[in-house]
Amino acid sequence: MSNSTKYIFVTGGVTSSLGKGIISASLAKLLQARDYTVTIQKLDPYINIDPGTLNPYEHGECFVTDDGAETDLDLGHYERFLNVPTSQANNVTTGKIYQSVINKERKGEFLGKTVQVIPHITDEIKERIQILGKKGEFDIVITEIGGTVGDIESLPYIESVRQMMWEFPEDCLVIHLTLVPYLAAAGELKTKPTQHSVKSLLEVGVQPDILVCRTEHDLDISIRKKIAKFCNVSPKAVIESIDAKSIYEVPMLMQEEELDKVVLEKLHLPAKDEPKMQEWKAFLHKLKHPTTEVTIGLIGKYIELKDAYKSIVESFVHAGAANDCKVNLEWIHSEGLTNENASEKLKDLQGILVAPGFGSRGISGKISAIKFARENKVPFLGICLGMQCAVIEFARNVIGWKDAHTAEIDKEAGHPVIDLMEEQKNVTNKGGTMRLGEYKCKVLADTNLYKAYNQEIIRERHRHRFEFNNEYLNDFEAKGMMATGKNPKTGLVEVVEIPEHPWFVGVQYHPEYKSTVSNPHPLFKAFVNAVLKNK
Ligand code: GLN
Repeated sequence: MSNSTKYIFVTGGVTSSLGKGIISASLAKLLQARDYTVTIQKLDPYINIDPGTLNPYEHGECFVTDDGAETDLDLGHYERFLNVPTSQANNVTTGKIYQSVINKERKGEFLGKTVQVIPHITDEIKERIQILGKKGEFDIVITEIGGTVGDIESLPYIESVRQMMWEFPEDCLVIHLTLVPYLAAAGELKTKPTQHSVKSLLEVGVQPDILVCRTEHDLDISIRKKIAKFCNVSPKAVIESIDAKSIYEVPMLMQEEELDKVVLEKLHLPAKDEPKMQEWKAFLHKLKHPTTEVTIGLIGKYIELKDAYKSIVESFVHAGAANDCKVNLEWIHSEGLTNENASEKLKDLQGILVAPGFGSRGISGKISAIKFARENKVPFLGICLGMQCAVIEFARNVIGWKDAHTAEIDKEAGHPVIDLMEEQKNVTNKGGTMRLGEYKCKVLADTNLYKAYNQEIIRERHRHRFEFNNEYLNDFEAKGMMATGKNPKTGLVEVVEIPEHPWFVGVQYHPEYKSTVSNPHPLFKAFVNAVLKNK
């Protein structure tokens, strides 16, 4: 069988965190800009079915797709760079692979055979890789393999790559990302870790076609030649990936290094025209030349961990550029915040965002931050738990229900203003059981929400179990907190606003999952704009 779709595998060596996701997304962007249809898939070697049950401390943010997959945060980068939605098929874990193979075994599909890593697990992996190609929508599928070559867990994935290279030599290509460290004492860049890393790949039968070398200093021609010679690649297939100020510069750096050209040549695909990167460059220009700046507080409980709120941070980058404005995010730990110290800690902020989350830790600090934003007329955006906290704060301090709370934290609350959704009441399993993915929301006219979207029906992504308790809606509206967005079918309150306030919006959904470079999210744009106006 020959494929019409081409497969590019991206592996990593030497250390983790070299930026495989950004390199994959940057290459995909350049190929897309040459009119190829491209998608990117992440294979994660851990045994969890998906990262939905993982603590952000383990694996950063959990990204959610339109079709409700809880996925690795790299899918967020893929969408932000390509402006094409991903889906369930774009993130595969060892848990999913084994679950599917074991289910088949129970059904008797293996006809009495012994079920083994090779061929059964590797066949399942290869099938998952080719699902995207067989859809017929994509010229090129880029598959990023999580982890580092040599890890026990990634072996079946590398073996699957080896088999695919063997079966479809014309249609497959391996890019290996490595590190070329600079030893200050020697004053030299060192190639040995790269050599060893390629050796590890060769031991399992995979010869990389292209090496992308992460480095803090330029790779001169002699270093490139040396790496090429030791690793059996041509010098032009040794690509420098120098540290960049912003991840959005990486596609341009990869274009300068001609990564896309080398890839197309090796895959025997025509280069077509030069990549159309005008729009991307215009965005970069705006990013680098803001005419003004604002400081917005991000109030959350994972402040030590920059990856926990990845999509929110990137949404501000997009929305800032769209407003010609640099958004300085000040990360503030919700745990240390109280009504007493809020004005001291928050006084320099021009806008306040309260982050999503689960559980009781840091919740009272989030409520204090919201009280401060509401009383001092600081523009406010609350996302998911942030919106729920805004409802609790309003109930306690405006309506006067001191016993108002969310049933997530206090099942006995006198006024459960946020309550478990009906459909969740019989749910006991934790994995994949939240209200997930895209739902419609009907927007009320003449609201900040409507001004942001300019649309009556919007579609946004969700990840929650609790919701606004509609029993109390009249009490809230009588006192000035309005439901300005609702699910048209169920009446579930998706958005609350305080019209008296310059800009106070709480959303049950996650706008941050839909912001891209080409399409900065309207709500983030409107929030930054409101902060600018209010400044
Ligand atoms: N814990 C809340 C719920 O489940 C909010 C979830 C979130 O912020 N993503 O409804």
